[in-house]
Amino acid sequence: IDIEGHPYQLVLLEDSTELIDLQHMLESEKTHLEDRVVERTYELEQQITQKKTAQIKLEKMALTDTLTALPNRAAFEVQLQHALDRSRTDTAYKFAILFIDLDGFKIINDTFGRHTGDELLQEISHRMQSIVRGSDVVARIGGDEFICLLHTPGGESRIVTMAKIFLNEIAKPIVLSGNRKMSVSASIGICAGTGNETEASRIMTMSDLAMYEAKHRGKNRYEIFSESMWQQMQENVSLTSKMDQAFENKEFMPYYQPICDLDGNIIGAEVLSRWCHEGEMIPPGKFIPVLEQRGLIRKYTNNLIENVVQSLQQYEHLPRVSINLSIQQFYDEDFLAKVDQIFDKSPELRQRTSFEITESMFNQDPELIMYKINQLSERGFKIYIDDFGTGYSSFAYIRKFTADVVKIDREFVMNIEQSEKDLQLLKGMIALMKSLDMEVVIEGVETKQQLDKIRALEQTVKIQGYYFYKALPLEQFLAVLENPQQRYLNG
Ligand code: C2E
Ligand code: CA
Ligand code: CA
Repeated sequence: IDIEGHPYQLVLLEDSTELIDLQHMLESEKTHLEDRVVERTYELEQQITQKKTAQIKLEKMALTDTLTALPNRAAFEVQLQHALDRSRTDTAYKFAILFIDLDGFKIINDTFGRHTGDELLQEISHRMQSIVRGSDVVARIGGDEFICLLHTPGGESRIVTMAKIFLNEIAKPIVLSGNRKMSVSASIGICAGTGNETEASRIMTMSDLAMYEAKHRGKNRYEIFSESMWQQMQENVSLTSKMDQAFENKEFMPYYQPICDLDGNIIGAEVLSRWCHEGEMIPPGKFIPVLEQRGLIRKYTNNLIENVVQSLQQYEHLPRVSINLSIQQFYDEDFLAKVDQIFDKSPELRQRTSFEITESMFNQDPELIMYKINQLSERGFKIYIDDFGTGYSSFAYIRKFTADVVKIDREFVMNIEQSEKDLQLLKGMIALMKSLDMEVVIEGVETKQQLDKIRALEQTVKIQGYYFYKALPLEQFLAVLENPQQRYLNG
């Protein structure tokens, strides 16, 4: 039968002792149940307190970076929002933020291990905290990214001084456990709040852009945010949105700029990329950086190499062609394998292909770059050092790997007609490279006068410049190879 929703079994009793037994049984069951309830309530209460403590701990953790005990990004954004709100009501109040990103930290982490990296980050955060006033905020917002909020920092020169102090303190040698010495540098983006900004995230982006510019200009330095950086970013965003389509529609085209001897005979060519988008020609200076930022440059360059190899196969009279490599190629573990795969069917084409690298690549991870360059060199590719004279670190490394050709940057040619000093500098550079057994290509020769000056210095140098040819689409390049008198001059 069913009583108040519980099923009961009806038992017919003849013996009253049996009834008493049953009653006892029921009672003991009841006490047992009551005990269980008390016990369970206690357990639940315990669990709730534990949960509460955990919650508080979690909330704290959500605002603090566990490694350095500095505020994290979320905490920083709250602080920055306060500063923003205040700057809008209190005209006397100003603030500035410094976006600080360590240079080459990933390499340290990868080479010496995470533990070393952690130790280094802890030391750097101590140093940064010791620089600022108590009310200022230093936060860690990413692996090796820090951000600092300075309240009423004074004028721009005071902010810049602060940035310099940061650079200085960070660059001091660090002694890690086991008495290991190490040093790092940082790139800093500065953004001074004007009181017109509305969102914290926008200001963070502004300082990030300035930091990126500092990296771009050679690291271990600061840059102040400017509107042009914002415009540049927007332009990049717009290019980015067109990029997928560009790959699909094959809008990228290799152009070939002939490299000549002093008489204008074509002895080689450099492949220069062009992007034709809806009738508009987007120059490589604009889209290559975007390909790099988006991590698409590897795919892009692989396609380009394949394309060049095809042309070399098809047109046997094409001279040696050089291809620009981006630094990201060297961090791509599959790059050499990819190159091997592309040249697998016709290894003899390696002799007709060369790769251009820039000096500035050696700023980052010279050992790795040198290793890969030597690997390419051993496979029979010629190595060109591009834009020579515009980087800083070349002399130290040039001794350690084989480069076959050095391309002297246009900057050193532009003024040789007017400036005797420039002419002598060019002469010295050529002599130095020759003495190191390297061929010399001079870039950006635009006039007959420049050519004559160069001819008077050295007979064996090669010339790449508008005076002889600008970069040409493949068909036109093939045409000038057929008929070398035909010149495509500047324009
Ligand atoms: P770069 O490697 O230094 O190439 C030489 C640049 O100088 C080319 O600009 C060329 O058109 C220009 N030039 C050559 N002769 C003269 C001259 O007489 N006067 C002047 N004023 N300029 C001259 P372009 O084609 O705009 O390329 C710019 C840069 O973009 C290149 O500089 C190179 O760093 C990069 N780039 C181009 N194509 C590629 C590519 O496929 N991959 C990569 N990673 N970078 C590329
Ligand atoms: Ca080049
Ligand atoms: Ca160059």
